[in-house]
Amino acid sequence: MQSSKTANYKAVADQAGHRFLFYCQVSGAHVRITKEIYPGQLEEALGLAWKEEGCWQFNQCRRCGKWVIDAVFNTEILECVECAPYEAEPKFCKTCGMKIRKTARCCQHCGSKLIYVGTEGHHAPETSFKKLEKFGFGPNVMKKNKVCLRCGRLVGTRLPVCPDCNEKLSSETLFDRYKRRHWSCSHCDTILTPGSRYCPNCGKPVLKKAVGYQENNLKGDSENET
Ligand SMILES: [Zn+2]
Ligand SMILES: [Zn+2]
Ligand SMILES: [Zn+2]
Ligand SMILES: [Zn+2]
Repeated sequence: MQSSKTANYKAVADQAGHRFLFYCQVSGAHVRITKEIYPGQLEEALGLAWKEEGCWQFNQCRRCGKWVIDAVFNTEILECVECAPYEAEPKFCKTCGMKIRKTARCCQHCGSKLIYVGTEGHHAPETSFKKLEKFGFGPNVMKKNKVCLRCGRLVGTRLPVCPDCNEKLSSETLFDRYKRRHWSCSHCDTILTPGSRYCPNCGKPVLKKAVGYQENNLKGDSENET
């Protein structure tokens, strides 16, 4: 995966110049239509549109370099949800499945580390979903939103049809798509980090065969017309 200078975009040529649509590289949602028409070469216009309007609406994952919207960006560790699963505060040890003390950093039964460690040892000790929601992020935010596969509009889960382009919308939420790309507990839906043998939320053993992890198989990703 290479990092890119801007989010995915569509350029619309115009007599006077260009207009751009920027798309989240994980969810496919477009965030903002750059209304102004910029003169000059495409390359130059793109740089200007991105700098002035585009980049403020996106976050860059520091692991994969993708530009993504708030809903799929983990502000605790500055990575997109494809790179880093949400880490629920564990109630059970991921290694031995025993119940653990709330504030423990290591399992008192087997000694395993309980805290999720992102890249470069960056800790997210008490990831509170409530706190993340203030930044427009977290499982609950993702469960409330889906993306129109035709135009990229971010819409509430209850809408059956896209208000912008009339496309019939599937019921798949951002969270459902996210879940497809990670291991999840077959009992309680908690996303699991690689190597978990027990669910940190319900303590049940992880059945690797039963979960629907599909790598690089996300249907309906937005096209990048560069
Ligand atoms: Zn990433
Ligand atoms: Zn343990
Ligand atoms: Zn649409
Ligand atoms: Zn579970």
